[in-house]
Amino acid sequence: MDCIFCRIISGEAPGEIVYQDDEAIAFRDINPQAPTHILIMPKSHIPSIAEVEDYGLVGRLVNIANELAKREGVGERGYRLVINSGPESGQEVPHLHIHLLGGRVLGRLG
Ligand code: AMP
Repeated sequence: MDCIFCRIISGEAPGEIVYQDDEAIAFRDINPQAPTHILIMPKSHIPSIAEVEDYGLVGRLVNIANELAKREGVGERGYRLVINSGPESGQEVPHLHIHLLGGRVLGRLG
């Protein structure tokens, strides 16, 4: 298995896991871009949002992200959810994930 996120999910690689259930997991980004930077993803290997078939799963991942934002204390202040998909987005890890960013003023998208 050469997917780093699959290896974290299986326990073969370390990760600072903050949430998991049967189908989803969330852990802190190793290179945080904000005081709160958590990655929320399915445990099954879906390469990108462009390859999703179960849109209910996407809604459940967003629900987890919203709950984690509250738990992290950024729910009221505001936060950003980001999904990169494909080369020009800068997606580095081809395992669908939502970035939860918060805890500082986030710049305009560009
Ligand atoms: P993306 O560019 O959307 O694919 O985002 C990939 C993210 O995964 C980046 O923010 C990386 O810092 C993060 N990342 C890469 N390897 C690890 C790892 N082993 N543990 C936690 N986060 C990671």
